[in-house]
Amino acid sequence: MSQPSPHSPAPATAAAAPDSIKPSNFLRQIIESDLEKGTYANRRWAGSPGDAAHHAAGPLDPAKIRTRFPPEPNGYLHVGHAKSICLNFGLARDYGGVCHLRFDDTNPEKEDTEYVDSITDSVKWLGFDWNGAPDAPAYQASDYFDFMYRAAEYLIESGHAYVDEQTPDQMRANRGDFGKPGVDSPFRSRTPAENLARFREMAQGQLEDGAMVLRAKIDMASPNINMRDPAIYRIKHAEHHNTGNKWCIYPMYTFAHPIEDALEQITHSICTLEFEDQRPFYDWLMDRLCETSKLPDGRVVGGLLASPPPHQYEFARLNLTYVITSKRKLAALVNEKKVNGWDDPRMPTIVGLRRRGYTPAALQAFAERIGVTKSDSWIDYSTLEGCLREDLELKAHRGFAVLNPVKLVLTNWDEVMGAGHLEPCTQPALPHPPEGVESPVRHFTIGKEVWIEREDYEEVPPKGYKRLFPGNKVRLKGGYVIECTGCTKDADGNITQVLATVVPDTKSGTPGSDSVKVKAAITWVSVADGVYAEVRMYDRLFLDAQPDAGGKDYLESLNPNSLKVITAIVEPSLANAAAGQNFQFERHGYFVADRVDHVQGTKPVFNLAVGLRDSWGK
Ligand code: ATP
Ligand code: MG
Repeated sequence: MSQPSPHSPAPATAAAAPDSIKPSNFLRQIIESDLEKGTYANRRWAGSPGDAAHHAAGPLDPAKIRTRFPPEPNGYLHVGHAKSICLNFGLARDYGGVCHLRFDDTNPEKEDTEYVDSITDSVKWLGFDWNGAPDAPAYQASDYFDFMYRAAEYLIESGHAYVDEQTPDQMRANRGDFGKPGVDSPFRSRTPAENLARFREMAQGQLEDGAMVLRAKIDMASPNINMRDPAIYRIKHAEHHNTGNKWCIYPMYTFAHPIEDALEQITHSICTLEFEDQRPFYDWLMDRLCETSKLPDGRVVGGLLASPPPHQYEFARLNLTYVITSKRKLAALVNEKKVNGWDDPRMPTIVGLRRRGYTPAALQAFAERIGVTKSDSWIDYSTLEGCLREDLELKAHRGFAVLNPVKLVLTNWDEVMGAGHLEPCTQPALPHPPEGVESPVRHFTIGKEVWIEREDYEEVPPKGYKRLFPGNKVRLKGGYVIECTGCTKDADGNITQVLATVVPDTKSGTPGSDSVKVKAAITWVSVADGVYAEVRMYDRLFLDAQPDAGGKDYLESLNPNSLKVITAIVEPSLANAAAGQNFQFERHGYFVADRVDHVQGTKPVFNLAVGLRDSWGK
């Protein structure tokens, strides 16, 4: 496992200024070197994506670098995407650049606008703007289909692509393998004119799916199988959500992606390691589409894309223990109802993490801390939780919640305080407010009856126990010192009430209140103003640290106890929380008012975000 960086990240917000103490990494070094050499200094940008001529007419690009985040809109984003988003948008921010949000929607069959909307929301929620302006529309790869078609015709004309009519089986057999060079297709030597005619036929719609493909003409003996004349266009009779029925041929991902980058004037195209073997084709294609060539008839054609073209760099994808990050497998959890939707707080999706109580700052700090490397590794889930704890420690308002309640009766209350009296109490919402900021104040009352945690009373105290047992005094935090006198029980011997007396003149914050010394203070909620709340106690979704590694069936290690719903009693400030607000329930952990089900004031619902201490692997 790679070690989290010892550097403790500054609270990263998207708007943060470039920060010189950020740990360097190989991508930062590459960008810094490019900036120093001026590799991209003469690039032009016409204000929108386009070909070489389009950009040539524009001014010098004010963005020093351009990166992009190019999700396929076929699922919800997950924590691995969050790493990629923070990386790409973070680099652009730190180096005076722009990051593009681009939907890689070149595959007509799998995409859906539900995913487009959720992806847009997630990127925005993480704190980022794209395409150079707040609220700019995202780019769509399908808007580039016309150019891609033109690029394909150009490759054919210049002798760099041909239409292959072998069957898929023949093509597979003739591709060879690691030890065996491929065999040229019998269609490989057709003339450009003949290929052009066949390609246009492909586009016209009379041919069936798979009848022919357009292939780049590179090298059937290349040691890199991706360079053995890869397919670049295929026939697919399918309606596309953006272009409708205009096309019945669609570009292959490996052909489309470099072109998308180039049209958008991307400088550093950052992807995960599995694309490393595709880089030679990326470069080959960029070279072909940037250069000009002289045709046999003397015409000079080409120069379709602006130079210098983008370059691809690979980094290791995020693997997080106890988590799966394959969209397909996450979709299976949703479809098979193992969780309650994509935003179930146990899901590693961004919408799930958000509903769980994660903050943009915590996810940004996490991305910063795990850094980028060139070799695969596993990150411990506790690293993610640590980032959330660190963010909430200073920001989350405190509150009292009793998760496993038993009633405590102050038997002398009426006598010393007055029958039915409710005494107002206050506590700071933030015990450590930032310099110059005053903590908001929580208001609640204390009366004859309060709720306490069952575990805070022991009839026969174990050694070292400092809370309630007959004869012992404790402080009700923010209230009074009380002395325990015993308890009442039902016929089965279960404790029904804990009994105590209040010690007058010990109210927190009043003069002389600490004249009575106690060894413990306990949290509590008054029966008079406590509110019943649904609290969802979440645990890890999988019991296995690597649920899907090595082809394991991840469904077999689902944790049957990943969700326990309890009824707790919370103080008024918690019941009145806005949906989505984070809290620390003192001594219990960090909780969030559920974004979906919480109703302010009347039906409080909280999710456990993370405990106060790391309990993983213990
Ligand atoms: P699938 O799960 O369907 O294979 P994907 O995870 O590759 O999809 P894309 O929508 O293609 O999803 O990803 C968008 C971007 O997010 C890509 O640039 C990809 O490199 C990056 N990305 C995806 N998963 C991770 C991960 N686990 N760690 C880091 N980056 C990731
Ligand atoms: Mg992908």
